Amino acid sequence: MPNPDNSTPPIPSSVLILGSGVFGLSTALSLSTHPSFTHSTITLVDRSAFPAPDSASIDTSRIIRADYADPAYSALAAKASKHWRGEWGADGSYDEVGLCLVADSGKAEYVKKSLQNVQGLVKSGARQAGQGRAGKDRVQVLDTREEIERVMNTGGGSGESGYVNWASGWADAEAAMRYCRRKVEELGRVSFRKAEAKSLLYSGNKVIGVELVDGGRILADLTVVATGAWSGKLVDLRGIASATGQVLAYLDITQEEQDRLGKIPVLLNMSTGMFVIPPRDRVLKVARHAYGYSNPTRVPHPEKHGESMVVSLPRTKVDEPDQWIPKEGELACRKALREMIPSLGDRPFSYTRICWYMDTPTGDWLITHHPCYEGLFLATGGSGHGFKFLPVIGDKIVDCILGKTPEEFRDKWSWPEKGKEDGVWTDDGSRGGKKGSVLDEEMRKGSRL
Ligand SMILES: Cc1cc2nc3c(=O)[nH]c(=O)nc-3n(C[C@H](O)[C@H](O)[C@H](O)COP(=O)(O)OP(=O)(O)OC[C@H]3O[C@@H](n4cnc5c(N)ncnc54)[C@H](O)[C@@H]3O)c2cc1C
Repeated sequence: MPNPDNSTPPIPSSVLILGSGVFGLSTALSLSTHPSFTHSTITLVDRSAFPAPDSASIDTSRIIRADYADPAYSALAAKASKHWRGEWGADGSYDEVGLCLVADSGKAEYVKKSLQNVQGLVKSGARQAGQGRAGKDRVQVLDTREEIERVMNTGGGSGESGYVNWASGWADAEAAMRYCRRKVEELGRVSFRKAEAKSLLYSGNKVIGVELVDGGRILADLTVVATGAWSGKLVDLRGIASATGQVLAYLDITQEEQDRLGKIPVLLNMSTGMFVIPPRDRVLKVARHAYGYSNPTRVPHPEKHGESMVVSLPRTKVDEPDQWIPKEGELACRKALREMIPSLGDRPFSYTRICWYMDTPTGDWLITHHPCYEGLFLATGGSGHGFKFLPVIGDKIVDCILGKTPEEFRDKWSWPEKGKEDGVWTDDGSRGGKKGSVLDEEMRKGSRL
């Protein structure tokens, strides 16, 4: 039976995980060591060879912060940060340079709540002695633009107020994912397979596995859909979660610039969504955490034979090798770069990318058994903030599979009231940009300046 009421379901003898991003791979890691699954077979399928170049989990960098307006995510992120400071970041893939979280005047609600939460974490001793790695006071309030610019030390800045948390930083996302994959491989419990899932296989109200695009089938007692922004193709998630495209732009810098900028804090403006992450290997990234672009696509209805539906799905460089971000997004990145690091303001972008979030209306993840189909579990809805939880999220997902969803996330991660139409825009107070943009329309206005 489906398990919407959090009761303990039977242990599946075979688990099939679709998707090898943060959500799928961390689930594979946790299942590999969990005593309840000692006798279960575990198969992990991804449509791309690892590391999937267009997945949300693979990139040069991801922000690692406990700086959340929501205390539940803040506390979980603080737990994850301990792992980043330990074995997960041991090879230099985590750099605790600090996070300067700022807002424009009149739009500072998220930043104020986040400040309260991180100050609470300091008080409760989540970071010994209330100091960041550099030994500075962990959290410094920044009341003016001048104070922000002083902390950034780039000759620029962003926003009018905020704070810097010296116990936050950023991780080399691909390196961390490779580390996670090695751990899973070493445990030897998971069969990896490169194949694209075409559709789930049903027997009455039970999902019994998956049909592959190559015509093959994989049967399993429990199928975990962790296909990120592509999940809406396999399960009808209209009104629950939807793919939104986000812009990223990279520029090459000199060794002298690398030396000067390599240890600046991450700068994130929560009013505009624009951010810069310090450079590594002479490449600097500027990007936008926004409502993003939808990409409405007609696909066969995953549950109703012969019917179709329209959902937003990713369109990436794997589909279009020459893809470049829309002009609107490039202009936003250019403006942010000029403001945040003026000396690089006119440096051409060498590479751009549209990276796809799986967004939910509240920014909460979807980690739950399906309410109608036995044998089907969802682990998706990352909403642009899932990466930092890589060291801990797999354990939480397995808890949810076992009907032990953490109390503080029970409502947040459960299957919500379902809408009929697609078109989800996350309203968690952290997004910049315009709501309702459609990728094709923006592309028609121009791309590659
Ligand atoms: C631009 C950008 C910036 C971000 N910044 C941050 C940040 O600073 N900090 C942070 O914490 N988080 C950040 N995030 C969010 C974080 O990266 C995501 O929440 C997380 O990586 C999502 O992981 P996932 O496993 O759900 O999806 P993905 O990593 O996308 O994995 C899904 C996998 O499913 C596979 N797949 C898809 N369809 C199929 C199919 N039919 N069959 C088989 N396999 C399939 C794909 O190949 C892919 O490997 C950011 C995300 C983006 C896009």
